[in-house]
Amino acid sequence: MSRVWNFSAGPAALPEEVLKQAAEEMLDWQGAGMGVMEMSHRGKEFTSIAEAAEADLRELMAVPDNYRILFMQGGAIAENAIIPMNLLGQHDSADYVVTGAWSAKSLKEARRYCKAHVAASAEAGGFTSVPAMTEWSLSDDPAYLFTCTNETIGGVEYPFEPDLAAIGRAEVPVVADVSSHILSRAMDVSKYGLLFGGAQKNIGPAGLTIVIVREDLLGRSVPACPTAFDYKTVADNGSMYNTPPTYGIYIAGLVFQWLKRQGGVAAIEAQNIAKAKLLYDYLDASDFYASKVDPACRSRMNVPFFLADESLNEVFLAESKAAGLVQLKGHKSVGGMRASIYNAMPLAGVQALVDFMRDFAARKG
Ligand SMILES: *Cc1c(COP(=O)(O)O)cnc(C)c1O
Repeated sequence: MSRVWNFSAGPAALPEEVLKQAAEEMLDWQGAGMGVMEMSHRGKEFTSIAEAAEADLRELMAVPDNYRILFMQGGAIAENAIIPMNLLGQHDSADYVVTGAWSAKSLKEARRYCKAHVAASAEAGGFTSVPAMTEWSLSDDPAYLFTCTNETIGGVEYPFEPDLAAIGRAEVPVVADVSSHILSRAMDVSKYGLLFGGAQKNIGPAGLTIVIVREDLLGRSVPACPTAFDYKTVADNGSMYNTPPTYGIYIAGLVFQWLKRQGGVAAIEAQNIAKAKLLYDYLDASDFYASKVDPACRSRMNVPFFLADESLNEVFLAESKAAGLVQLKGHKSVGGMRASIYNAMPLAGVQALVDFMRDFAARKG
């Protein structure tokens, strides 16, 4: 068996230790005589798996007691509809900060449910930065303010945590799509009304969606909200109103345990800073490659970069793949290359990429 360095934006690489443990437990989970996929979600074995996963996530992110953790399905894209259906209540509008493809998509979906107001947009600059909070212009009475704090496609990450108290609008709950940087850095959950993300970037398999929601925001859903997507129903039933994605929750739980063994979020954040610095420092020092994102807003997780001579793109991709470095092609809307370096990517993988890039530049430059 030989494994590649996998720079996929998602579904993305998982820690090898986690995959090995899952493989060992595939046929017989801890003496249960069956694998996790075959278990009743209401049985004592799976209940213990789900409870441990939730407790470990709560510990890792220091989620306050007045927040509920929900294990849902539908991915982040379904949440673009589920969020307005749950949070609008008596409001008829919501505010959106548009910083890239994902928040633009969220805005578009919200317009099916409410008046969605653009509080700030980075589109004029080609989605390469995050507008400062002092430039955000909130509407009079929005149900919430939506942000995507790491734009996976553009490689733009908030260099600050959205904090509406700082601009005198503490009453408006902040919603954040954290799909592609959850658990990669410290986040102050108490600053948000709701955090959500698909699992397949930094947590586990596709099919599991994590929602962390402040309790006072439960019970506001509009009548058309599907019962299975009503946060209050999901919360009241411990994420088991319908059958949850049991195997996804199990793998997520193994990833949370792995993360705790690494030293938790603070330790992985230090590693992520080192990984990003290694790659961006090389990009900045080289005339052969370039990053187009405002240096203050560069994502630590998703690093789009361009070859100065784009006619070499196909050769770059073919040679990098032959060297065991895969999934480096940029998103079609951005072009160029993109290296996604989530928690599970070790520094050695980023070093292998930089070594390859340096060698390629020396040969073709
Ligand atoms: C991947 C991603 C999505 C889409 O997630 P799905 O699971 O496909 O619905 C949405 N937002 C962000 C920030 C993402 O990275």
